[in-house]
Amino acid sequence: MIKTLYSLVFILSFGIAATSFCNSDISSNIIKQNDEIIYTVTIASSSPKIAKVNASFSLKDSLLYMDGGAQHLPDRWATFVNNLEVTNTFGEPIKTEQLTAAQWKIHASSGERINLTYEVKLDHEDHEWSGGIDGVAYAKEWGVFYTGRSLFVMNGEDRTRILVHFILPKDWKATTPWEYLGDNNTSFVVSSLTELTQSMFFAGSHYEFSIKRDDFELIFALGGEQIISDKNEFEALAEGVFDYYIQLMGGIPNPAPENKFKKVVVIINPANVTDGEVVGNSISILIEENGDQMSEMISRFIFAHEFFHLWNGKSFTPVNEDMEWFKEGFTNYYTLKSLHHVGFLNDQSFLAVLNNLFYQRYINDTGVGQLSMSNGAEKHGHWGLIYGGGLFVGISQDMIIRKATGNKKSIDDLMRQLYKKYGGTNEYYTLAELQQLMSELSGIEQTSFFNEYVKGVKEIPIADYLNLIGFDAKINNQQLVISKKESLTPLQQSFIDGFYGK
Ligand SMILES: [Zn+2]
Repeated sequence: MIKTLYSLVFILSFGIAATSFCNSDISSNIIKQNDEIIYTVTIASSSPKIAKVNASFSLKDSLLYMDGGAQHLPDRWATFVNNLEVTNTFGEPIKTEQLTAAQWKIHASSGERINLTYEVKLDHEDHEWSGGIDGVAYAKEWGVFYTGRSLFVMNGEDRTRILVHFILPKDWKATTPWEYLGDNNTSFVVSSLTELTQSMFFAGSHYEFSIKRDDFELIFALGGEQIISDKNEFEALAEGVFDYYIQLMGGIPNPAPENKFKKVVVIINPANVTDGEVVGNSISILIEENGDQMSEMISRFIFAHEFFHLWNGKSFTPVNEDMEWFKEGFTNYYTLKSLHHVGFLNDQSFLAVLNNLFYQRYINDTGVGQLSMSNGAEKHGHWGLIYGGGLFVGISQDMIIRKATGNKKSIDDLMRQLYKKYGGTNEYYTLAELQQLMSELSGIEQTSFFNEYVKGVKEIPIADYLNLIGFDAKINNQQLVISKKESLTPLQQSFIDGFYGK
């Protein structure tokens, strides 16, 4: 559905550009002005938990609405919206009626330019959210976090140039995934309503840093004393992981033409529990305060995992849900490799995570032996089967290919092939193609592997595949126990280095 909307926006924006090109300068200016949509978000230091929003645009129809979500609240996102008022360009009030499900009807005709004002009260933390507060909205002493869907009231669908200005307390800034408007770092240009609502931002006195490669920017917002004191570690980790992925793939993320992005925001704050969420090109991470090593590991893992999806997920995308095991599981494998590559994991902790986090979730998943991992709709109910099973398919295929080619080829080649073929296109890969590419890389037909472990329901004999390359792996009391053989040939050592992502 999102893809359809993107194509629609693309066609419409192209249409509008073509029209204004044909008109004279004056009339194109009028068209532009009349079509311009401007949001101003004001937050005062005296009441940081209130965002005053002012929006000005020409009506496409008589409905104001907020994006989907907050389904468990009768008024959805409108639960937090107060004092919504609409006036015409002369400042005269326009009658507005609140409907259900975060919608309002306005008594004005389409084409009329209006001014909309309302307030959003940041009380979202007073409610329960099944996915956690990291994908909703919250306040910290040093600023406020919003998702676009929790803040913006919209009209129409085909908006192509949306200006967002922030008016903030004097030591505050706004860290967003949107393009800057000129040199002013509190004004942004957003290319569609989808980009506006499918995004997250942090406004406050937090610490911000950014990493640029070519014309791609990764921008971080770090909050809280503890996290800011680790800023050098975060910066080194992010640069190391970013460079590892670029080198692996052969380039920066290259999504479909109508979903081009040049900037990704990563917002990290302390909380009671470690959690992470991705909306559009925004990554939100919460790290448990005074958490143990595991929670520290998971927060880094979330970052490296979500970041890899900019390639595996956004630059090359499966045609349907049958390949969630590949999208999530291979991403997990490269997440571990990248964290080893930058030195956050060593051989021992890599293997510990493989058993404790993944093998345990896999082997204790009731879907193993019952369901096929190509059942992508089960990804939330059967995390172990799909995220863990997919990782074990990745490792097995990597071992098969390395062994068959004397370490000349690996699933790194598969990643590069998919990136090269599908990056920057609107085409999608299929399950049959993955099977074919893996067979070609090893030179060994993988039909029975796929029929048994991917399309079929059989448990993957992961220890056998690890033993192909010089490991001594076994399953002992439902634990995946892995050690290196006592003496390794140089070739076996190179297989193992490849496995770790060295
Ligand atoms: Zn994922």
